Amino acid sequence: MGRITLTPRPSYPVGKGAGGLGRILLIPGDGIGHEVIPAVADVLRKLLPGARFVEAEAGFGAYERHGTPLPDATLTACREADAILFGAVTTPPDIPGYRSPILRLRKELGLAANLRPVRSLPIPNSRPGVDLLIVRENTEGLYSGIEEVSADGERATTLRVITGAASRRIAHIAFRLARERRGRCTVIHKANVLRQTDGLFRRAVREVAAEYLDVALDEFLVDTAALRLVQQPEAFDVLVTTNLFGDILSDLAAAHIGGLGVAASANVGGGKGLFEPVHGSAPDIAGRGIANPTATFLAAVLMLRHLGAHAEAARLEHATEATLAAGIRTPDLGGDATTAMVCQSVSTAL
Ligand code: NAD
Repeated sequence: MGRITLTPRPSYPVGKGAGGLGRILLIPGDGIGHEVIPAVADVLRKLLPGARFVEAEAGFGAYERHGTPLPDATLTACREADAILFGAVTTPPDIPGYRSPILRLRKELGLAANLRPVRSLPIPNSRPGVDLLIVRENTEGLYSGIEEVSADGERATTLRVITGAASRRIAHIAFRLARERRGRCTVIHKANVLRQTDGLFRRAVREVAAEYLDVALDEFLVDTAALRLVQQPEAFDVLVTTNLFGDILSDLAAAHIGGLGVAASANVGGGKGLFEPVHGSAPDIAGRGIANPTATFLAAVLMLRHLGAHAEAARLEHATEATLAAGIRTPDLGGDATTAMVCQSVSTAL
């Protein structure tokens, strides 16, 4: 398992099928999103001469310009696009009623699953032998957006919504993916304490498991899973869990392969796909030209596979990993390359 393979692996549901390449919507967002998205888009234009690229606004900058982080024109463009490549947005915690556009997009577009592959990379700070996939429910749980605070500001509540329908839907996605991979799926929950919500989630996953007898199912409480993910990430294949647990565990797992600068994710459901680096807008390094574009390249690889462009996905993945292997790395990976230098190398290696 120590070997790093460069061959594509079906680690997400395949989307439109070959020939589906059409309109790709680019949403840079805020902060380093304005650096990684245009840089990666230049490489994609070379790789995909037949694709049409359009751009739209979202995030805090859009809020300052238009009074909303998700203008109607952007939502329409998302509905019309064949795939969306999203950078990152800044979400200020202190503006009342402000809601991240990415959360709203996941709901509006019916992007039921957030898929976060974590696979070893050819860099010194990546642990060899890691190849797991976190399948995170994307539309409910503690990210339901249903919150209230008492009149005196001393008591706040967030509603954790779990439904049988969404739990079964994410379970089917996880089992299908496990079947294409190594045939193991681990359900992660906290049903010993969250007896109603995670009790329902766990029951729903186990019920769906009966339809996938070729997939081995096991389970961990989320705290035990966190420990095991730190100690023995090689032991996992597919992990299926609720929204917040999946969010936290996938950042944790990304530490094994080099951190946020290389972690990519896919939001899929209903034939739609939105692909994004896991990282945020990184205001501490924004504007310095040193943001790592690898996560965005790997998000683009997921997008190309979703679109059925498997050969192009393999070329881009290979070029991205060859660049890392050649030591052309940004400072977050211990190197001294700029964003532009990494993108130039990937473009040349295509
Ligand atoms: P962050 O991911 O932006 O940054 C965390 C750390 O990782 C920083 O030190 C940053 O410099 C580094 N980092 C992140 N991406 C990098 C890259 N590509 N190359 C090199 N270094 C990189 O997380 P944060 O600082 O907690 O949040 C900043 C803002 O981003 C907040 O407003 C937060 O709400 C938002 N955020 C957005 C998303 C999203 O758009 N999906 C995700 C997470 C956070």
